[in-house]
Amino acid sequence: MTTSVFKSDKKTFFDPAKVTVFFILGGPGAGKGTQCARLVQDFGFSHLSAGDLLRAEQVREGSEYGELIRTCIREGTIVPSEVTVNLLKNAMAAAIAEDHEGEGWTEGRGRFLIDGFPRKLDQAEMFEVEICPASLILFFDTTEEVMLARLLERGKTSGREDDNVESIKKRFRTYKEQTMPVIELYEKYNKVAQIDSTASIEEVHKHASAAVMKVLAP
Ligand code: UDP
Ligand code: MG
Repeated sequence: MTTSVFKSDKKTFFDPAKVTVFFILGGPGAGKGTQCARLVQDFGFSHLSAGDLLRAEQVREGSEYGELIRTCIREGTIVPSEVTVNLLKNAMAAAIAEDHEGEGWTEGRGRFLIDGFPRKLDQAEMFEVEICPASLILFFDTTEEVMLARLLERGKTSGREDDNVESIKKRFRTYKEQTMPVIELYEKYNKVAQIDSTASIEEVHKHASAAVMKVLAP
């Protein structure tokens, strides 16, 4: 059974004996989404991007968080944890409720790549204590120069309000100030697989898959 980095006697919402969670971190443009798509093909994960869930909530009719999310995303700041954790919890429950028999899943089981989360220590704690402890952090690491170039390229077609130089700079700052401490904490518990994501998609995928394999089939 996976033990949490955070101490608590409470039972989590999902049973860690049945539900496996990998957190996927790395700066904006580090390649998280691209690599997650590849890992889904290999290992039958459900891929949940916190940013995508927030963007969907932002435009959902009747959402009380639309404006708040829009502002945070543009400013590169972090949406209050309750909002994001709740979206993730609901998306996980929905994925588990689907019929995954063909993929060899049995009832109540799930394997998740939680992409772009936790970006801040309080999110990590809230998720691990209330929702489910994480088995491993996959940390995709490259230089700001590489990330900037990738984001500007993506910005040509992504339609994302935050793929512009001004927002990107703010996102880099949030990443360094708030997200790096999360990675450093997990490092102390040997729960980080750091992968240089400067190389080709294929090369990075090889390393990512090896790290995942170690956890799934020890
Ligand atoms: N975001 C957030 N909390 C999260 C994940 C994302 O507030 O847990 C917001 C934040 O403003 C971030 C934006 O969503 O800058 C875009 O996140 P996404 O993960 O899509 O960006 P990526 O890092 O993949 O480029
Ligand atoms: Mg992404």
